[in-house]
Amino acid sequence: MKKLSILGSTGSIGTQTLEVVRNNKDIQVAALAVYKSIDLLETQTREFLPRLVCVYDEKSAKDLKQRVRDLSVKVLSGMEGLIACALCEEADMVVSAVVGMIGIRPVIEAIRAGKDIAFANKETLVTAGHLIMPLVKEYHVNFLPVDSEHSAIFQSLAGGGGNPAKLILTASGGPFRGKKLSELTNVRVEDALKHPNWSMGHKITIDSATMVNKGLEVMEASWLFGMPGDKIEVVIHPQSVIHSAVEYLDGAVIAQLGVPDMKLPIQYALFYPERRFLPGKRLSLTDLGSLTFEKPDLSELPGLSLAYEAICAGGSMPVVYNAANEYAVEKFLARGIGFTEITDWIAEAMRAHQKRQNPSLEEILEVEAWTKEFLSNASHGEIQSKMSRNMEA
Ligand code: MG
Repeated sequence: MKKLSILGSTGSIGTQTLEVVRNNKDIQVAALAVYKSIDLLETQTREFLPRLVCVYDEKSAKDLKQRVRDLSVKVLSGMEGLIACALCEEADMVVSAVVGMIGIRPVIEAIRAGKDIAFANKETLVTAGHLIMPLVKEYHVNFLPVDSEHSAIFQSLAGGGGNPAKLILTASGGPFRGKKLSELTNVRVEDALKHPNWSMGHKITIDSATMVNKGLEVMEASWLFGMPGDKIEVVIHPQSVIHSAVEYLDGAVIAQLGVPDMKLPIQYALFYPERRFLPGKRLSLTDLGSLTFEKPDLSELPGLSLAYEAICAGGSMPVVYNAANEYAVEKFLARGIGFTEITDWIAEAMRAHQKRQNPSLEEILEVEAWTKEFLSNASHGEIQSKMSRNMEA
């Protein structure tokens, strides 16, 4: 019997992971952790009976404790609780599906405790890949990508025989594919939340609209598969049928295809290397008729071009790229800034940052704090005035 600890169980990946658990009799839940959605967590706790749950928000944790008094479940809170779930003794595998850099410490601790990781928290690898990947080797754990593109590359590498020359990362292009930056200044939150192919959480949906998601994925792929940024090509593929591909030294390209359904990469990670039946639609190539591809125009996609800059710079620069994005997306969702300002802010923070080489965990968190402070100060002054100058020009 395999046992899971799911960090981020009420999010899009978390709920779909539980669907996979529901459909497989030989897998159980040992621990669940959420940010603050306790209504759904209570339902999940009653159905899956974990021994341990964590609600990051302390007040919500107290509420939940009252509600589940009749169950024998321990309720924890905060970073300590999140780490306790990652270390839960019964769990053999940790599903890391929280959003943002909050996942760094639990993932590091889980690897040190010898747990396999099903990984769906790209911000963690983007900012701390240089700390995490050596630990994966040292502790001989499986580190299995859940992100659809990275799962596709992982699957394409499984039968490839070695010597990959290039990774081809596909991108749907999101809701604003083909639009110029200048056409996007008045985009509303509602417009940016409409993704054509995938139904996902709010942050990643906005990241898909700005293409920052693809930028983060290039960095994630670079760490996961040990490929430099210039060997990772992004191709716009609006149908989201080819989930990504690997080109080998001899020119062969091996890709993974399927209907867009996150349960496939989730289930593949949970039972790797075994493939199991997964109910749902099957891909019909003849119904599709054709698949199309476009080269992304980097001059109109700062979310992507800045990511390549950050990879190339290395050190703490990806931390700034990510932290600035986390901060700006939150502001955009709260309707505090415009859509195109998200990437303007990332660019400003990267320009102002003095890069540190090989940052420690403490330094990563310091750089995160510096970035958010820089933006909260700058947002009322420099950036605003620069924006209005641009508008006037
Ligand atoms: Mg993805």
